[in-house]
Amino acid sequence: MAERHHIDLHIDGEWQPAIAGGKIDILDPATEEVVATASQAERADVEAAIAAAQTAYLSWRQVAAWDRSKVIRKAAMLLEERTDKIARLLTLETGKPLAQSKGEIVSAVELMDWYADEARRIFGQTIPGRNADSRFMTSYEPVGVVGAFTAWNFPIVLQVRKITPAVATGCTIVTRPAEEGTSCVAELVKCFIDAGLPKGVINLVTGKPEVISETIMDSDTVRKVSFTGSIPVGQHLMRRAADTVKRMSMELGGHGPVIIHEDVDPIKVALTSAAGKSRNNGQVCVSPTRFYVHKKHEQVFTETFGEALGKMKLGHGLDASTEIGPLVNRRRLDFIEEMVEQTKAEGARVVTGGKRPADMNRGYFFEPTVFADMRDDMRVMNDEPFGPIAAVTSFETFDEVIGRANSLSYGLAGYVFTQDHKLAQKTADALKTGIVAVNNYAAATAEMPFGGVNHSGFGRENGSQGLYDYLDVKFINIAYT
Ligand code: NAD
Repeated sequence: MAERHHIDLHIDGEWQPAIAGGKIDILDPATEEVVATASQAERADVEAAIAAAQTAYLSWRQVAAWDRSKVIRKAAMLLEERTDKIARLLTLETGKPLAQSKGEIVSAVELMDWYADEARRIFGQTIPGRNADSRFMTSYEPVGVVGAFTAWNFPIVLQVRKITPAVATGCTIVTRPAEEGTSCVAELVKCFIDAGLPKGVINLVTGKPEVISETIMDSDTVRKVSFTGSIPVGQHLMRRAADTVKRMSMELGGHGPVIIHEDVDPIKVALTSAAGKSRNNGQVCVSPTRFYVHKKHEQVFTETFGEALGKMKLGHGLDASTEIGPLVNRRRLDFIEEMVEQTKAEGARVVTGGKRPADMNRGYFFEPTVFADMRDDMRVMNDEPFGPIAAVTSFETFDEVIGRANSLSYGLAGYVFTQDHKLAQKTADALKTGIVAVNNYAAATAEMPFGGVNHSGFGRENGSQGLYDYLDVKFINIAYT
């Protein structure tokens, strides 16, 4: 695994080093070895990217929707063809098991395919005006140059959620991927270029987040910013957006409640929950985190859930037998270790995990951890873990569990398990979240809107709604005489 490659900036159709020549290292989180370097953009590079995006916008917005659609469709086909190479890079830089990297690419291809269709369905309305000789019309126009920042947990999908609607609507984009996942995002950009996207429509800037984001936030040319990441960074960007009155989309954190009603088979639900929790090592904004289990099933569920997670094999994501990879970086490992120690000190019972694996002294590995005997005032019940921690508690009545599940300021995804359709609907209606999954953990799909409420953010990605965050609606009032 001694490969080491370099990723340049992509500005105005050219791959180029940063003007000041700086570079950042990209590590394999399973070995802590440097696997790649990326150019480190400074203010002048980002300004050049914004200028290129503005020039490209003037012509790209004029391209017919059918032609924009064809480019996206072709890029999706190329991404699919290149799955093996790109999935390997994704695993090397994020640590996720190879099968999950391939799965991420499948989701990205589906989403591009979906947006290739939706690009042709940006319809306005025409309605009668206030008299016989007039009409009221609406038409949709691209917002202009978009700035985008994404997290590292799904580097390709999160970038596709921003690049593709921008391209589909006639916007242009300056985008910064997370450090972890830079190579695979560069490969994604190549798919669009090889599909015939004109220069300047996508500009990729890599490097330190603050420099890139401050330049983008200062620019009056950038008319919209879309961010996926933590609540504090999202709040900072929202404050900065006020100066230039930018539109914003915010996909922020979550703390997924799972309500397991009395009428289920607790063993089945525990096994499904272990699979859901282990996905990407719990580093998923819609990861289930707070398990509210009906009192009757608390013991069986907790034991089965802990046992299933405890048996999963940790290892390098390129090893075919690996079920759980490392955490993405040292900062996340330190955070999880500290949260686990605090939860133990607060009196929770460790059902499984609770420490770094004794036999792995390199890489950011941590055992999947299940806590039981939780109190609602414990930190892990209130702060998003964003990692391999699950907290199990019990409930007795519907009103009690809804009150507890809805007690936090997060509102991204919630989960319900029951065989009673009426109860499923009642629980889904009562949860204050942007997404609810019933009897499953699939919270995101190309054709349905993805996003949160309350402190989890605003705006929607995917679905038909995903395009409208990139469009301004214009009202045209026509008097024919
Ligand atoms: P983070 O906000 O620190 O980092 C997320 C990304 O933003 C990284 O790429 C980082 O480099 C970048 N970033 C940091 N400072 C920035 C700035 N000033 N301007 C622009 N970009 C900046 O979060 P983290 O701790 O690395 O990741 C975990 C958090 O991200 C969790 O809270 C999680 O819920 C959230 N997240 C949310 C979603 C979602 O779709 N809702 C998806 C993934 C992650």
